[in-house]
Amino acid sequence: MNCKHVWNYISEYIDGSIDDELRAQIESHLEHCEICSAILDSTRNILYLTADNRTFALPVGFSERLRARLEEEMAKSTDSP
Ligand SMILES: [Zn+2]
Repeated sequence: MNCKHVWNYISEYIDGSIDDELRAQIESHLEHCEICSAILDSTRNILYLTADNRTFALPVGFSERLRARLEEEMAKSTDSP
């Protein structure tokens, strides 16, 4: 499990539609990775802002923008685990 793996599953992780084994792996990564923890927090905030009472939907282009942002963070933080 590395940062990119976590990012691939982050929406499923937040949504809860992920299996227990994968969730455990992501949580153990989050414990030692500040980048992914920060990304998880900000992604959650965005989702709470955009979700209505009943449906869970990402705005158009959200995942592309998130992915681009993550690539930027990854490039800046090559000295981190
Ligand atoms: Zn990470």
